[in-house]
Amino acid sequence: MTNADPRHSGPGAHTGPGEGPMPRRITHWIDGKPWPGTAQEASRQGEVYDPSTGRVAGLVDLASAAEVDAAVGTAKAAFAGWREASLARRTTVMFAFRELVKREAAGLAALISSEHGKVATDAAGEVARGLEVVEFACGIPHLLKGGFSENVSTRVDSYSIRQPLGVVAGITPFNFPAMVPMWMFPIAIACGNTFVLKPSEKDPSASVRIAELWAEAGLPAGVFNVVQGDKVAVDALLRHPGVAAVSFVGSTPIARYVYETGTSAGKRVQALGGAKNHMVVLPDADLDLAADAAVSAGFGSAGERCMAISVVAAVDPVGDELIEKIRDRVAKLQVGPGADERSEMGPLVTGPHRDKVAGYLDTGVKEGATLAIDGRVHPVIGGDPDGFWLGPSVLDHVAPTMSCYTDEIFGPVLCVVRVPSYESAVGLINANPYGNGTAIFTNDGGAARMFASQIEVGMIGINVPIPVPMAYYSFGGWKTSLFGDTHMHGAEGVHFYTRGKVITSRWLDPSHGGVHLGFPVNA
Ligand code: NAD
Repeated sequence: MTNADPRHSGPGAHTGPGEGPMPRRITHWIDGKPWPGTAQEASRQGEVYDPSTGRVAGLVDLASAAEVDAAVGTAKAAFAGWREASLARRTTVMFAFRELVKREAAGLAALISSEHGKVATDAAGEVARGLEVVEFACGIPHLLKGGFSENVSTRVDSYSIRQPLGVVAGITPFNFPAMVPMWMFPIAIACGNTFVLKPSEKDPSASVRIAELWAEAGLPAGVFNVVQGDKVAVDALLRHPGVAAVSFVGSTPIARYVYETGTSAGKRVQALGGAKNHMVVLPDADLDLAADAAVSAGFGSAGERCMAISVVAAVDPVGDELIEKIRDRVAKLQVGPGADERSEMGPLVTGPHRDKVAGYLDTGVKEGATLAIDGRVHPVIGGDPDGFWLGPSVLDHVAPTMSCYTDEIFGPVLCVVRVPSYESAVGLINANPYGNGTAIFTNDGGAARMFASQIEVGMIGINVPIPVPMAYYSFGGWKTSLFGDTHMHGAEGVHFYTRGKVITSRWLDPSHGGVHLGFPVNA
């Protein structure tokens, strides 16, 4: 079949002439429209895979510093008007955007699934959780209310306001191509900033679809821009004098780099990093509930979630029974293409990532762990053999010195560490350099309460394995899971994207007058 029309066949996508579809071209979105730039001519494009088949499905443009400059310039020009837009106008656009994302949620989920590999229901879940932040941002008039104090001194009033920063940038990871950007831009834009998003080059299409929806919602051109790219684009954003703040989510080494580079260039930065999330199972826990949770949170989205459970700390004597319950459940898991309704777990995002994750199974055994479940032999339903498959695996008797414990694997490999007591479980977690999420499974309320208080981690679940906070709370970890002070969305998100001002005013009245050189004190 010949494609006669080389124009759009999806967001930011083009099909070329010739036999069969050429890889789609996925490009930038600047000034309210697709912005092809010079990447194709400069041979600066990255391959985007269909992880279920292993085939190249798209070519994404990788921005040069000049293209980043164009995006920032457009965003800067748009800021002048958008910061003046009334709260009523901003919320009107935000409500319209909310309706459009809701309308297009299934298509957006399918697009995410086709590039990331996660199953369609999981992709729909990330769109739904992202939408909650949009809904939170619809309440921006309330969130931006300042304080007012009458008569702080005689006939002097004081009030506080929060104002937008200017152009802010978001740099996001592959594992949530819609939700993580939506932790950032709804609040940034509602606060009156303009936004440049640099999504992951592994699954870039959702960002362009989102940009189209913003345009349809009536957001002025230039307020939301997308630059596709790699390190070149990230570095250009971090050094650009026109960028006031950077929100980053990704792995810990890059988060540290972004934080250090961005702050040394004078920017406000929040940089969320990697994770190693432990689930503690106490002897009094409901072991069926705990096994369900370990399997769901360990292997959902093929373990490619920053809140995935990657370590089970099984407090003696629950280890053997828990592993058997996990084994029963894993045996029934359906691994297959994201688009296949039967699939519960899809492929990994790329071939090299799959190989790296699988490598931990051999290394773990060499280092002394027991391979209780080998995901390499798990059946794949309806899968192309060239897809990036790896079934769910469990390494048992893992020690904290082994690389499968010290490294963030970011795949469907659950490590089980046997610990003798509650205290040793807490000691294990608090000694870990990551501090994103953790969970405890117990029926002892006192133990759960003590755990929540003692544990040095940002997000805690009690009989809840993936405790992702709601949009009106803030998301973020401790230790090397976060660089900077501010977590994402909720009140902290509003705080991050605004600067405070306090105004003290006195209107002329008969009591004015006189020169006073002393420091102002209240009278
Ligand atoms: P990554 O760090 O490789 O990439 C994240 C972003 O940084 C991407 O946009 C990428 O293009 C850019 N980048 C990559 N290398 C760079 C470099 N050398 N210089 C500058 N920029 C660079 O992360 P990933 O593989 O896309 O995503 C998975 C990671 O993200 C995991 O570590 C996961 O734990 C983490 N994550 C954390 C959270 C959280 O909330 N803490 C949420 C989701 C994902």
